[in-house]
Amino acid sequence: MIKLLEIINKVKTEHKLSKQEIISLLNNNDINQELFKAADEIRKKYVSDEVQLRGLIEFTNICKNNCLYCGLRRDNKNLVKYRLTENQILDFASKAKSFGYKTIVLQGGEDDYYTKNKIIKIIKGIKSLDLALTLSIGEKTYDEYKAFRDAGTDRYLLRIETTDKTLYEKLDPGMSHENRLDCLRNLKKLGYEVGTGVMVGLPNQTIESYANDILYFKEINADMLGIGPFIPNEDTPLAGCKGKELTMALKVMAITRLILPDINIPATTAMESLNTNGRLMALQSGANVVMPNVTEGEYRKYYALYPGKICTGDTPVHCRSCITGKINSIGRTVSTNYGFRGNKNTK
Ligand code: SAH
Ligand code: SF4
Repeated sequence: MIKLLEIINKVKTEHKLSKQEIISLLNNNDINQELFKAADEIRKKYVSDEVQLRGLIEFTNICKNNCLYCGLRRDNKNLVKYRLTENQILDFASKAKSFGYKTIVLQGGEDDYYTKNKIIKIIKGIKSLDLALTLSIGEKTYDEYKAFRDAGTDRYLLRIETTDKTLYEKLDPGMSHENRLDCLRNLKKLGYEVGTGVMVGLPNQTIESYANDILYFKEINADMLGIGPFIPNEDTPLAGCKGKELTMALKVMAITRLILPDINIPATTAMESLNTNGRLMALQSGANVVMPNVTEGEYRKYYALYPGKICTGDTPVHCRSCITGKINSIGRTVSTNYGFRGNKNTK
């Protein structure tokens, strides 16, 4: 225990850990409070008490992939499918702006209906509103990523899901781990702020594998890191799995903050889905970003990655004031800048 407390103290100044040190921290639950407290201090020191809000638009729940864990998978026939039109997307984005958001995250399944040119039009529309834009639309070619970047996209989110290649290829049939790594390299090369991340609690995922995940985040110097507990979905082949490892997800997140002190780390929606205070717990254990939903109407409930997704009956206005209240209740404030890495206003 004393040894582990020394490790926590050391990483607060050195921002480096060996694989064995990460494994020891993940394996021992007696030091969790000290770990979360250290991550909270480093978050405050490097990215202040300001919480970055990103308005999330879930623009299509149609996906050509068949990831075993995900409710949007191709073979799930129990889902009402939808696609938003360009006008709907721009309408949600401009309303989000009027509620004070500075960043839009456009996320969806891998849906080829949205061709390169359609996406470029949407990007230009959102950028003309003077908003920062994050895309999260999966694996694309280098040329597509380049075109989206040239059109003004600032950031891209593509979780590696797990750095365990064998596990990844089992859970994501027909997809290649090497290609996903390539995509992340290409995004970095093109000058995006790059976000990646993993799920925690997948079947057969190990502590050693989480340690490799964390070392990978450091190696690629990710600008954003989303870590979410895996929540089994009834409409998928992983229905019977256990998942729901909130504490382990918070630990992986806290260690990530300690070794990458100035990056943006969201308190993920999946964390709140497992505990009504999940996002506040995350914000007090290293996270500094929240991504409230700004999609309106029925669509929210159909974007069913996993069950128990929060706020599916709420409006964007409600979400905005609800989250601001929660953030203020723990003595933090909502940022008014664009929220690039290091809490800078511009890149
Ligand atoms: N199609 C894009 C973006 C949408 S999926 C992509 O795959 O990158 C967004 C994220 O949802 C995925 O990266 C995955 O980590 C997460 N997710 C999917 N199913 C989940 C589940 N059952 N529990 C928790 N997170 C899940
Ligand atoms: Fe599609 Fe993304 Fe879900 Fe995989 S995780 S099925 S790529 S939406």
